[in-house]
Amino acid sequence: MNTAAAKKQKFTRIQSIKFEDFLSTYPPGEVQAIGNLGVIRSPSSTPILIKPRLKLYCPNSVCSGVRFFDSYQTKKVTLSEKWSRIFLHYSCANCRTHSKIFAIMARWNTDIDEGEAIKVGEWPPFGPKVSARVISILGENKDLFLMGRRAEIQGLGIGALAYYRKVIENQKDHIIDELMRVVRRTGSPEPYIEKLKSAKMEKRFKEAVELISDALPQALLINGYNPLALLDQAISKGSYAHNDTDALKLATALRRILSELADRVVRALEDQTDLDEAVNFILQHD
Ligand SMILES: [Zn+2]
Repeated sequence: MNTAAAKKQKFTRIQSIKFEDFLSTYPPGEVQAIGNLGVIRSPSSTPILIKPRLKLYCPNSVCSGVRFFDSYQTKKVTLSEKWSRIFLHYSCANCRTHSKIFAIMARWNTDIDEGEAIKVGEWPPFGPKVSARVISILGENKDLFLMGRRAEIQGLGIGALAYYRKVIENQKDHIIDELMRVVRRTGSPEPYIEKLKSAKMEKRFKEAVELISDALPQALLINGYNPLALLDQAISKGSYAHNDTDALKLATALRRILSELADRVVRALEDQTDLDEAVNFILQHD
């Protein structure tokens, strides 16, 4: 085996990733060896950058799901030993209206006969999809939540925890309003509503949570616990987290509980609407 092939085998086995995975799932800022960054048409020619088909979430109302994205740029980009700055334009193959732009730097490492790339940025910005239900409970703090999600994905636990904590504290009143909608719609006892009203008047999140400790319908409890009390506990523990690893676990827990709560609010309201329709149907066709 020649030296380049030996180096490549050693290098690629450990680090090489697919270009499509690099573009769709890796955050900006890290150099990666890419197994299929370019193709060499003949032994004497220079490698040409490939533009792989990607699977990305398309928020367009006609798509609202994961769709194929293609690059419609026809200009060939050659790769050399020197780093080149490259913009890649992608569009949703289904609606053709939603686009994604990546700014990358790429080079061909002749030592291992393989490409390397670093993502400089992307637009819309890097970050996983957040469900519409969660967005609805986040209100105007949606952007703070998305920054928390980005920090979480990059392993920046302390940052993610700080963003999520801010979101929950800022959204206290809105979250309580949502809970109140469920309590009213499901015909819960009047004292529940009074407790939620007092909690809304309370400025501090912790005290507000204590006021409504037992004022939530069963459908909103997570494993039998009041979700707001779980959020409050995670926030309290977070103030003692001294490293990114511990903070990251708490941040992920906070996000999961908040997402589950948003899901349960929407589901409880939908279930009640279905029940109302069923009851009305029976009564009208008596
Ligand atoms: Zn689309």
